[in-house]
Amino acid sequence: MRLGGTPLVVSATQLPTPPPDDPPAAARWVAAHLGDLCADEPAPSPAFRGGQRAADAALAAFDVTGYAGWRNEVWPRERRGASRLSPWIRHGLLTLPRVWEAVEGGPSADVDKLRDELLWQEYSRHLYARMGSRLRAPLRADPPAATDASPEQAWDRRMACMDLTVGELEDEGWVPNQARLWLAGQWAVRHGLDWREGEQRFFAHLLDGSRAANGTGWQWAVGTGTGRPYGFSRRQVERRAPGLCQTCPLASRCPIETPPEVELDRREPDPLLRRDPDPEATGGPRTARVAGAPELVWLTAESLGEDDPALLAHPDVPAVFVFDAPLLARLALSGKRLVFLAETLAELATTRTVHLWRGDPVAALAGTSLATTFAPVPGWRARSARLDVAALHPWPWLRRPHEGPLQSFTAWRKHAEGGSRGGGSRGKGSSRGGGGSRGRGRRR
Ligand SMILES: Cc1cc2nc3c(=O)[nH]c(=O)nc-3n(C[C@H](O)[C@H](O)[C@H](O)COP(=O)(O)OP(=O)(O)OC[C@H]3O[C@@H](n4cnc5c(N)ncnc54)[C@H](O)[C@@H]3O)c2cc1C
Repeated sequence: MRLGGTPLVVSATQLPTPPPDDPPAAARWVAAHLGDLCADEPAPSPAFRGGQRAADAALAAFDVTGYAGWRNEVWPRERRGASRLSPWIRHGLLTLPRVWEAVEGGPSADVDKLRDELLWQEYSRHLYARMGSRLRAPLRADPPAATDASPEQAWDRRMACMDLTVGELEDEGWVPNQARLWLAGQWAVRHGLDWREGEQRFFAHLLDGSRAANGTGWQWAVGTGTGRPYGFSRRQVERRAPGLCQTCPLASRCPIETPPEVELDRREPDPLLRRDPDPEATGGPRTARVAGAPELVWLTAESLGEDDPALLAHPDVPAVFVFDAPLLARLALSGKRLVFLAETLAELATTRTVHLWRGDPVAALAGTSLATTFAPVPGWRARSARLDVAALHPWPWLRRPHEGPLQSFTAWRKHAEGGSRGGGSRGKGSSRGGGGSRGRGRRR
């Protein structure tokens, strides 16, 4: 690639910058430049905006008070107590250490619960960073027996619980954790469909979709990660969505009246789960490694925030983002995921120069000296190894990856914390007592 000129290779083309603060225009931009790579007509999510300002506003508006009690509620929407921060966390617009610190001072039970969930996110990132594509193979047990059920039978839209949650997944790109368990349970445990195809459906639509947390979530729901599948039945709907069954056309002949009875065969865990032979490689550099003056800051979908370490370290260097066309063609994502990215990049381009490309990142960035932030995903490793990275900046871990066990969250956490509970690498332990994080009552 040559800045401002014609690309030297035909497998990458430069794109104009999308218009900022205009979601319909961002959707038109995606349709014009990336529409052939999307699985549907690009449209903005009606529920989430991309960009640092939206991320900051969502974090500022989040009051952790009541989180522990209401996080798992699904319906009516006013009962929900989850933070809904995940799309911005997934793309690095909100780092885990920042969210960890933001809830300091809230009621201890709520702060502890929220921080536990942040640690689940960190755990899933460690799993993926260490295991890579091996996270798509069953970790500790065989999946439930396959049947000839169809996806439409599993996610039967005549059921009010399925209609609500499949609708939110496909229209908004976000579903509460509890409902993700319902959907995964219906798909793979009760109906015996291939969990990796269900994971792919989630991945196509979720604005927070990541191979790390999605793969881990499915392995845990289906039971391949634990040996114990999640048995979804009417009882959970009545508890977490009171009144929803009364609206259901199938209420009197509910197909999920009782939990499915599924036993899984345990399998020998992958040895890599027990021990990482090279945790330093898994975790990336601890401090910046700068070997020259970069021409561009290479941004990836893992870290698009204004406080991306490479962006912060090189404030006068233009940024570049490549829409990886070969990868996107394989993934067939819903257009709303790309609109979220386009909104984010459009806003960033109002504060510094951002070059956008479509094509193979290695082709687009060949011959350019880059600064970038380490990303704990296999795709970044493969591409960065073939690029001229003059300045590599550390990933903002909440906990540094260790060489110890990953078979369970508890074992991982114990090792990560040296046997004690406490704060993140930059955070402190949760405070005791006190009011909400910002003294506001929680919205219901
Ligand atoms: C089958 C299945 C698939 C999932 N796929 C994804 C995915 O692709 N991307 C993703 O980020 N999360 C995934 N999760 C985890 C979880 O459902 C979402 O992180 C959470 O629902 C996001 O909503 P929130 O921000 O309101 O979460 P909150 O409850 O408010 O939690 C705050 C943050 O903690 C983290 N977190 C919470 N619960 C979990 C969890 N169980 N595992 C990992 N991190 C968690 C997220 O970063 C979240 O934003 C999946 C869970 C299941 C059961």
